[in-house]
Amino acid sequence: MIKTRFAPSPTGFLHVGGLRTALYAYLFAKKQGGVFALRIEDTDKERFVEGGIENIVRSLAWAGLRPDEGVDLDKMGKITQKGDCGPYIQSTRLDIYKKHVDELIKKGHGYYCFCSKERLDELRKMQELNKMPTGYDRHCCNLSKEEIEKRLKANEPHVVRMKIPKEGITKLNDLIKGEVEFKNELIDDQVILKADGYPTYHLAVVVDDHLMKITHVIRGEEWLSSTPKHIQLYKMFGWKAPEFAHLPLLLNPDKSKLSKRQGDVAVENYKAKGYLPEAMINFVAFLGWNPGTDKELFTLDELVKEFNLSRVNKSGAVFNLQKLDWYNEQYIRQMNLSELVERCVPFLIEARLIKDYRKITDEYKKWLEGVVALERGRVANLSQISEALKFVFIDKLNYDAGILVWKKSTKKETEKNLKLLSEILLSTKIVQIWTKENLEAKIGEWIKEEELSAGSVLWPMRVALSGQENSPGPFEIAEVLGREKTVERLTEAFKKL
Ligand code: GLU
Repeated sequence: MIKTRFAPSPTGFLHVGGLRTALYAYLFAKKQGGVFALRIEDTDKERFVEGGIENIVRSLAWAGLRPDEGVDLDKMGKITQKGDCGPYIQSTRLDIYKKHVDELIKKGHGYYCFCSKERLDELRKMQELNKMPTGYDRHCCNLSKEEIEKRLKANEPHVVRMKIPKEGITKLNDLIKGEVEFKNELIDDQVILKADGYPTYHLAVVVDDHLMKITHVIRGEEWLSSTPKHIQLYKMFGWKAPEFAHLPLLLNPDKSKLSKRQGDVAVENYKAKGYLPEAMINFVAFLGWNPGTDKELFTLDELVKEFNLSRVNKSGAVFNLQKLDWYNEQYIRQMNLSELVERCVPFLIEARLIKDYRKITDEYKKWLEGVVALERGRVANLSQISEALKFVFIDKLNYDAGILVWKKSTKKETEKNLKLLSEILLSTKIVQIWTKENLEAKIGEWIKEEELSAGSVLWPMRVALSGQENSPGPFEIAEVLGREKTVERLTEAFKKL
């Protein structure tokens, strides 16, 4: 049975790179009928952030990536765990790690190290100065049993290190990078148990991947240099190592490593801006992978069918925000309107355009469909939609009267046309049914009959209704505003002139 895992550290938020790792691990497992697990790696107490676990699990759930095993959310949105290999939060597994560290010491693969931070700093400085590879010099490797006992009894601060064989090479056959070799002499005697009794990432990740029966470790390329240490640990324990796949780095458009500083990397920020999870998943899937065809729009289920590690690139993938906007626009445009309204409501509330929750009746939602349709083809995300729709909701538009006049028209003509238009729309003689289609047909006929110039009627009409030079069409806006509000805005406009 194929089993993959996503193993984030709860450092505060889910990074888009983390979302990609989770997605690829999910797709790989699902495609083969396997299991996708979520484990929390919180052994670095200094980097722990309150609420960090919830945040990551929620962001994953928002994107549609629910684990089959491990840490998940219950119906109330609280953290819960499921599966036979738990617990799945590393800080609650300390005794398991301790037992395994003791085993390595007993086998001669691990040793106590009492070196102070000052000594280690000094050592590093000296190595750097002499252009030597940096790493621990095994100062504590050959302490006598008695001395170790004595120092442990005296409660001297200490760590445990793994004893890497110094000859030979460690080979990795990575599913993406291919064969990679590491010279053992360059691999540091990594700390595996810290002075605070917590394991390091390296020990915990190996013990857990083994005990949780992970068959494929899919993770970012930044972990590639750690992998020989992990392979050595598997050997020391006498365990079979899983398969590894290291995903290409994510890059800024200038090809530097995608960092916090250069733009937004937290998935929750994209959610807050109104990117749809469907678009986010689709965009992220293409960061380093492609299906080998022209098809660009994929649902999560379609990705499961299509995904293949052999089509993951070796080299870095550029994180291009314009492409994300493009995906989002596609999904906004193709989504059915009632669904889109559901997604927009929180943004309209946040923008205080809908003030009273009780107002959101079914009838009101129907009206909102027309409102949202005004802008859906003109924006890249849902917060832009609510920004763009402000003009529909506010009582009094604030704009410069000069923009009411069409370029081939005059102030006088504009004033006259707006006045006439407001009069004919006030009565039901010409336009009886208040729909955009009927408005367009009847106002069109009226313009012809009166021998008016279409531009000098429709331009000011549109500006009067939207308060903007660029806006959706006049008939669509009039439809959602209704007869009364439309006439009111037209009247206000000619009075402005
Ligand atoms: N805890 C590591 C991280 O934060 C996981 C690396 C791995 O997948 O082995 O990314």
